[in-house]
Amino acid sequence: TIFPLNMARAKAEAIINPTSGDATFMKEIIMGYQGEMSLKGLNRNQFEAAMMKILRYRLKTVGRFKVYCTQSTFYMEPEEEDVDMDLAFERVSKVFGLAALSRAVVCEKDFDTICQTAEDYLGSELHGIRTFKVEARRADKTYPMTSPELMRELGAYLLGKHNYLKVDVHNPQFKVIVEIRDYGAYIHGPKIQGEGGLPGKAMLLLSGGIDSPVAAYRMAKRGLALDHIHFASPPYTSERAKLKVKALAQLITVYTGSANLFVVPYTKPQEYIRDNAPDVLFTVLMRRSMMRIANIIAKKQGCEALITGESLAQVASQTMEAMAVTGQVCTLPVFRPLVGMDKEEIVTVARRIGTLETSILPYEDCCTIFVAKHPVTKPNLNVIKCSERHLDDVIDEMMERAVSTAETIEVC
Ligand code: ATP
Ligand code: MG
Repeated sequence: TIFPLNMARAKAEAIINPTSGDATFMKEIIMGYQGEMSLKGLNRNQFEAAMMKILRYRLKTVGRFKVYCTQSTFYMEPEEEDVDMDLAFERVSKVFGLAALSRAVVCEKDFDTICQTAEDYLGSELHGIRTFKVEARRADKTYPMTSPELMRELGAYLLGKHNYLKVDVHNPQFKVIVEIRDYGAYIHGPKIQGEGGLPGKAMLLLSGGIDSPVAAYRMAKRGLALDHIHFASPPYTSERAKLKVKALAQLITVYTGSANLFVVPYTKPQEYIRDNAPDVLFTVLMRRSMMRIANIIAKKQGCEALITGESLAQVASQTMEAMAVTGQVCTLPVFRPLVGMDKEEIVTVARRIGTLETSILPYEDCCTIFVAKHPVTKPNLNVIKCSERHLDDVIDEMMERAVSTAETIEVC
C-alpha cells in the first residue's frame, strides 16, 4: 500500500499541473470531513480505511475516482472526464460517518492564483445575492498569510469584481471558503452537513427475517461497517433460504458498503442440542451456542460488537431473562437496536429501506425448526449452565468445526 500522504501529494500536484495543458482547466473534487471520527486516536487508521472502502463502493458505478484521506479529510477525485459530479456528490453525501462535505477545486497556494480560482469557480454564485463572507482556514501553518489576512484580502478582491456585494460576517447569503492545506489551496462554497456517525465494524446475526436487516440499517446509521453471520441447517433449511439471506445482505450494502457474509453450517450442533437437552431449554441453549460461534468469528474479523434484531418480548427467547442468558456467553458487547420497537414500527422501516419484500419470502430459518411447544421464557442461568455441562465436549467440538468450516461470501 502507498503511504496516503504520498498519494495525496502526487494527486494534488497532478491537479495543480494538469497534463491536459489547458490553463483554465479546473478539476472539481469532493471533500468529506471527519466528525466524531477524528476523536478516535489510535484507531483512526482503521476507521479511515473503512470509510474509504465505503466511499469507493458508493462511487463505483458513477465513474472512476481516486479516494484518499489526509489531514482528517477524505478526497474523492474523478479520474476521467464527464463524470456526473452531481450524482457522485449525492451518493457520498448519504454515507454515514462524514460530518460534512463540499465540492471544491484545488489550486496553487499563491494569493493571486487563489483569487483567480475563487472568481472562476464561485463567481457565478455571487451573482444575484447581496451579502457574502470569505472564510479561511490554514492547516499549513507555514503559509505566509494568516487566516484573517486571507479573508480580508480575498474578500476585497471579490468585492472588486462584484461591487454590488456587501460583507456580512454573521449571516451571509453565501460563503467562499478557502482552506490552505499542505499540498494546495482548496476553494469551495458552504459545506453541506453529512450524515455523521461513528465508524467501526460489527457483526450482524442475519436471519432471513424482517428484523435483522432493520437492525443492520440502524447500526449502519451510526456509521458502523458490518459483516454478517448466518446460521444454516441444511437439509432442514434450504439453499433458497441461504440465497434469500445473501440477497438481504446485498440490499443492505446500500447503507454499509461491501461486506462479508459468513454462512455457518449449523446442522450438527443444532441436532445435538435437540437430542441431548431438555425440550424446554432447546431454544435458549441453541441461541447461546449461536452467540458463542458468532462471538468467535466476529473477533477473528476484527469486529467490536455483535448485533441482533431482537426486540423485547417479541418471542420467548427475547424476554429480558432470555437475553441476559444468551448475551452472557459473549465477550463482545451485544447491540439490539430494535429492542424498544414493536413489529409495526420495524415493518415500516423495513418497507422504507427496501428489505421487506425479500424478508417476507417464505423460507425456513434454523431458529424456527425444532421449536418446543412451551419454551422457557425465564431461563435460570444455573440450570442452563448445568444442561450445557451435560452436552460436554462434543458440542464444543461441533461448534469449533462450525467455525472452521463457515463459508465466506463476499457481497458487494
Ligand atoms: P428476524 O425477523 O430478523 O428473523 P425474529 O424476530 O424472527 O428476527 P428470532 O428468529 O428469534 O427473531 O431471531 C432473533 C435474532 O437472532 C434475529 O434478529 C437475528 O439477529 C438472529 N438470528 C435468528 N436466526 C438466525 C440465523 N439463522 N442466522 C443468524 N442470525 C439469526
Ligand atoms: Mg428469525
